[in-house]
Amino acid sequence: MAGKKSKMVIALGGNAIKHAGQEGTTEEQFENVSKTARQIGEIIENGEYKVILTHGNGPQAGNLLIQQEDSDRAPAQDLHVIGGMTQGQIGYMIQNELENYFKKRGMVDCLVVTIINQVRVSEDDPEFEKDSASKPVGPFYKKEKAMKMKEERNYLVKEVDPTREKSWRRVVPSPEPLENMEVETIRKLVKSGVTVIASGGGGIPVVERNGELKGVNAVIDKDKAGELLASEVNADIFMNLTDVEKAKLNFGTSKEQDIDEMSLTKAERYIKEGHFLTGSMLPKVEACKRFIENGGERAIITHLDKAIDALEGRTGTHILPD
Ligand code: ADP
Ligand code: MG
Repeated sequence: MAGKKSKMVIALGGNAIKHAGQEGTTEEQFENVSKTARQIGEIIENGEYKVILTHGNGPQAGNLLIQQEDSDRAPAQDLHVIGGMTQGQIGYMIQNELENYFKKRGMVDCLVVTIINQVRVSEDDPEFEKDSASKPVGPFYKKEKAMKMKEERNYLVKEVDPTREKSWRRVVPSPEPLENMEVETIRKLVKSGVTVIASGGGGIPVVERNGELKGVNAVIDKDKAGELLASEVNADIFMNLTDVEKAKLNFGTSKEQDIDEMSLTKAERYIKEGHFLTGSMLPKVEACKRFIENGGERAIITHLDKAIDALEGRTGTHILPD
């Protein structure tokens, strides 16, 4: 009997779909996704892993918000709906490119599907307290425009980067993800061998109110939601694909040094020593650490183009139990 396949959650960073500096045209995004899909297709083709994919949606949600704000002809949709829209958009692109790979390679038994995926958060999360929201979304505004958006759309706006001419942005709560609402569906599909795309953009944030799920205008951190998904499906490996090959010590200084491997204890120490920047590498390392604490075997951080090399141990930063 063939050995049991391991389960791997692969989280795609923002650059997987829209590179920095690109506008985000349909063509550009398909080209980027196609490159990534080829690698993931190869991993699936190799037959050792059941793959569950997740991804960010920052640039896509940002563009959609601009399109909505610039039109008075149709009502702008709430942020949770934008979450659902971008899950469909990005899921479609990945699905299309993966299916094309399967077709080309004659992988007739391989199936892939995107789940529109809600993730429960708590209304008592401190991020929902008045003026506490921390996650900037959408375009940068000049102060005047920011005040107008506040007035007209009831946005919470904050000055996020005083060095820019347009220094203000809308900020929304970024609550802790508590529970993936479609996890049973995902488990069943994974069990039957389907490649699942889930929890895109951190999942659509919902709260439970009077026994019902209700979408909220918030954004869940995709690194945190990816870890929750990986732990909930009992993944063996949690692979984070981003725009650097390895996490580094003394990042951005002359003493910068690659981290090839870190145990939980080391990861904790490096976090305390402040090697990872808030808002980029820190949430990734914290998510990897939590995945291992929850019983995962191996978490990996590497560059988008290095997934296979990292999986085979030739590169990447590997986070392991003590
Ligand atoms: P993603 O879209 O994949 O989540 P992020 O921009 O959030 O990507 O995180 C990756 C970025 O983290 C890198 O481009 C790098 O600038 C930054 N970073 C911060 N601290 C470190 C570190 N210690 N080692 C490597 N990269 C770091
Ligand atoms: Mg990030």
